[in-house]
Amino acid sequence: MIFNIEKLVQPHLRKIIPYQSARRIGGKGSIWLNANESPFSIENTIKRNNLNRYPECQPKNLILKYASYSNVNFKNILVTRGSDEGIDLLSRTFCIPEKDSIMIFPPTYDMYSVTAKIMGINVKQVPLLKNWDLDILNIKLHIKNVKIIYLCRPNNPTGNCFSIQSIKKILEIAYKRAIVVVDEAYIEFCYDKNISSWIHKYSHLVILRTLSKAFSLAGLRCGFLVSNKKIIKILSKIIPPYPISIPTSDIAEEALSKKNIDIIKKNVVLLNQNKNWLIESLKKNVLVEKIYDSDANYILVKFYSSHKVFTFLWNKGIILRDQSKKTNLKRYLRISIGTKNECLILIKSLNSLKL
Ligand SMILES: *Cc1c(COP(=O)(O)O)cnc(C)c1O
Repeated sequence: MIFNIEKLVQPHLRKIIPYQSARRIGGKGSIWLNANESPFSIENTIKRNNLNRYPECQPKNLILKYASYSNVNFKNILVTRGSDEGIDLLSRTFCIPEKDSIMIFPPTYDMYSVTAKIMGINVKQVPLLKNWDLDILNIKLHIKNVKIIYLCRPNNPTGNCFSIQSIKKILEIAYKRAIVVVDEAYIEFCYDKNISSWIHKYSHLVILRTLSKAFSLAGLRCGFLVSNKKIIKILSKIIPPYPISIPTSDIAEEALSKKNIDIIKKNVVLLNQNKNWLIESLKKNVLVEKIYDSDANYILVKFYSSHKVFTFLWNKGIILRDQSKKTNLKRYLRISIGTKNECLILIKSLNSLKL
């Protein structure tokens, strides 16, 4: 019995475009600068033989470790399978499909809108201003029916941190209306700008964190959601019963040891140095039209001919992220910060490209 299964799929999902992850896009590379991963891997000593038992839904020891690292109470933390699961949980908890909206500020991280679209939730877009700042006036104007506002800080891919004043304004606009999610996936690269202590002042503020970037554990799939404990309590009812495997929580716990946090801090200093070196070197390159400072482990660069640069490097096994199809990012590429040697090879290759 053969028939077209597609007819059984929910209509709004038939033409869905999945998140274009770096792994999905592929490439044959030796230098991977396209997913903002850490170029350094960290060791772990975990070996478990008690996997016949289910894990805790919310591993207590891991939460205590993250609470101490992030300087909040353990009751303010939810552990998730990467921060992508936090986005999924928030959408399912706060938005009624077909009726409610999320608000995003493109160009930004795609998972907010991809997750909403899968659930039939509307997506309101208020593009960033030319200097990558928030357009407060238009945000106010379009707030009706918005239940979640996503702010990425530092923003992926522009690399800037929105000002403290503008975040406060958005929290005021959202008061009694919407949840404000501040995605701090890259906050370790500018840690003094983190706003996790604000959760005590704003009951509608949610912070997303992850071990995927500065902590060098993208392959582990472990993230944290930090907020007022009422939100944590509601989300704990929605989260699947066993989201975090025992090996995952063991490795994450070890990653949050004092010894490892010191290593991460050193790696952050190193990557920030590489970033500054790369920015200065790119400024001298004739292919580069515009380049922005960045608070994160990636930089956004406008090239006179981004497609040629992208494919030239791609064919050499140096894989960058093409941003040219995103809102206001025609001819832009995003470059993750690699090791010093990777940065050197990148610059050397770019200098050898004659248009
Ligand atoms: C990489 C990234 C994440 C991390 O997602 P995980 O699911 O934790 O790996 C979250 N937000 C942004 C903006 C990112 O770039």
